[in-house]
Amino acid sequence: MKKFFHSAKSVNFSFFLGLLFSAGVVALTYWKPANIPWTLLSAVTVSAAFAIFSIIQIKLNRQLAHKVKELNERDFKLKKLGNAVTNSGSSIIITDELGNIEYANNKFVKTTGYCLTEIKGRSLDILNPKEAKSALEQQWEQELLFDGWEGDVLSCRKCGSSFWSAVSISSVCDSQGFVTNFVISCIDITELKEANSKMQIMALYDPLTGLANRRLFIDRLEQAVRAAKRDRKKIALMFLDLDQFKRINDTLGHDAGDILLTTVSNRLKECVREKDTVARLGGDEFTVLLTDVEDNLSVTPVAHQILRALKKPVKLKKHEVIVSTSIGITLAPTDGSTADSLMKNADLALYRAKEQGRDCYHFFTEELNASALRQLVLEQELRHALQYDEFTLHFQPQVNLRNEHVVSVEALLRWYHPTKGLVSPDAFIPVAEETGLIVPIGRWVLKNACMQMKMLQDLTGVDLKIAVNLSTRQFDDPDLEDTIADALCQTGLDPKWLELEVTESMLMGDIDLVIEKLKRLKATGVSITIDDFGSGYSSLSYLKKLPVDILKVDREFVRDIPEDLNDMEITSAVIAVAHKLNLKVIAEGVEDIDQRDFLMINKCDYAQGYFYSKPLPFEDLYQYLNNVKLAQTA
Ligand code: C2E
Ligand code: MG
Ligand code: MG
Repeated sequence: MKKFFHSAKSVNFSFFLGLLFSAGVVALTYWKPANIPWTLLSAVTVSAAFAIFSIIQIKLNRQLAHKVKELNERDFKLKKLGNAVTNSGSSIIITDELGNIEYANNKFVKTTGYCLTEIKGRSLDILNPKEAKSALEQQWEQELLFDGWEGDVLSCRKCGSSFWSAVSISSVCDSQGFVTNFVISCIDITELKEANSKMQIMALYDPLTGLANRRLFIDRLEQAVRAAKRDRKKIALMFLDLDQFKRINDTLGHDAGDILLTTVSNRLKECVREKDTVARLGGDEFTVLLTDVEDNLSVTPVAHQILRALKKPVKLKKHEVIVSTSIGITLAPTDGSTADSLMKNADLALYRAKEQGRDCYHFFTEELNASALRQLVLEQELRHALQYDEFTLHFQPQVNLRNEHVVSVEALLRWYHPTKGLVSPDAFIPVAEETGLIVPIGRWVLKNACMQMKMLQDLTGVDLKIAVNLSTRQFDDPDLEDTIADALCQTGLDPKWLELEVTESMLMGDIDLVIEKLKRLKATGVSITIDDFGSGYSSLSYLKKLPVDILKVDREFVRDIPEDLNDMEITSAVIAVAHKLNLKVIAEGVEDIDQRDFLMINKCDYAQGYFYSKPLPFEDLYQYLNNVKLAQTA
């Protein structure tokens, strides 16, 4: 069209030049100026006309050449774009204005398995799996015609398998603004989508058991609390802790621990309804959220069922183990109205269930809350006590039952509380243990016990031993050996005068590790006593493997001698077997002469108790030793 227009323009121009030339010839023919020869004038006019004509012709030719070049370049560009579309890494489809496919590129053919002839003229619906159909149809109607569209679409290959694409659709309009085509470009994002959903699962579920994790559980708890408030209903939150998990994990290995956790999670799911949530918060901590509960009474059967179900034997490798559980329960909105407060309540209730001997459940009460607050205050006061030197040591003599000579003393911690006066260790050691404060407190005890014993040895000239109690945290502390070495080195006490009292429960972990640790301690020259023997569950055959020196019979067994025949039998048997294992025996809590006589007859090596002396402050001990020494020498 444009070419025609250009050629029309040049014809008009030539016609105009012809007219101009004819007019010049006619004018010169009639005007005939007198002094210029006619032929000359004609020649000039003709030449001028031809010159102008030639110039114009050249210009037109140049314009034409330029246009041709432009057209060639445009053609080349189109080819380039065509190539880019055909070989693009994205699938590209061009449809008519109704969405019927006109063109699809190579990538599309490769991705979908359709060839162009199969889909040409067909609607885009061919690519939509049934479930995605209506959604895309709607988008097509409402949005496409106007501004184009972008989004993720689930599509279907020829073979029927589906894949996710990030799709962008843009419209092509004619000169009047009417849509003539749509260009659809799609990138396969199936892998991205899969990775994304895997990440979502990982972020919300425990990978080992498939149960909800802490994040998802808190979210569900928050929702349940809101729903309970709105519908004036109650929910119950249970915290569970497996009583022997650590021991099983340590002794049978992590694989066995994993099997146990998976079994527990399956059994828990069987104990609750579909609408309840079971979660694993980490380690052996499980939670259960029961919705729609009436009161404590309606939760109790579920707690019983869980206790029963989890106590059934579990096969771990070649072993069959029985695991009991402790459960803490709290109700919302009665006990608390936020997820945070409910979690705290359930934890407190769980703690109390464990204190009550495990294998049971306990409901949260306000008293639990108050006692937790008291513990918090106690913790702050203990920090203060450590900083301001409010601790002191009392010493209780231990005698050799052969001659009743004092051979050692046990260091027992006391706290001079600024308002409460002297506080017994039973009242604060558990809190110190739980908060980890026992480690610095224990360091203080070790150093001061060694220092005062050295002083006593120097003052009396008698070599006595000092027994120091260790707590579980201290025993597990990797710095324990250094702490002992420092205490001995700084005070100058010979290690052979230091005795460490450990309890059976501290020795129940991985036996090989415990033996290693005890050997290392003994290598420093100190001796080891097993305190409160008989109160735990270890057997004498277990102790045979441990490098210890003395067994201290728990005062529970001594208390009812000579009334309780059973206790007497146990005590005498322990003494006899311990001697066979080359261990010395000390009895604690000896309060009267009958007990002492029984122990002497049964060849118990040492005794400690009120019968000889209560625990004494340093000055009183010094006095006491002077008196007994006098008595002995008299
Ligand atoms: P334990 O090591 O078994 O200490 C013996 C406890 O029995 C002491 O109580 C002592 O006063 C008491 N006792 C001694 N003879 C008799 C008696 O004839 N009759 C009766 N009824 N009781 C007697 P205490 O001093 O209150 O200590 C209680 C526990 O606190 C200790 O039990 C020990 O487990 C812990 N403890 C004490 N001092 C320390 C310490 O420095 N570090 C650590 N980790 N624990 C300590
Ligand atoms: Mg002790
Ligand atoms: Mg004891």
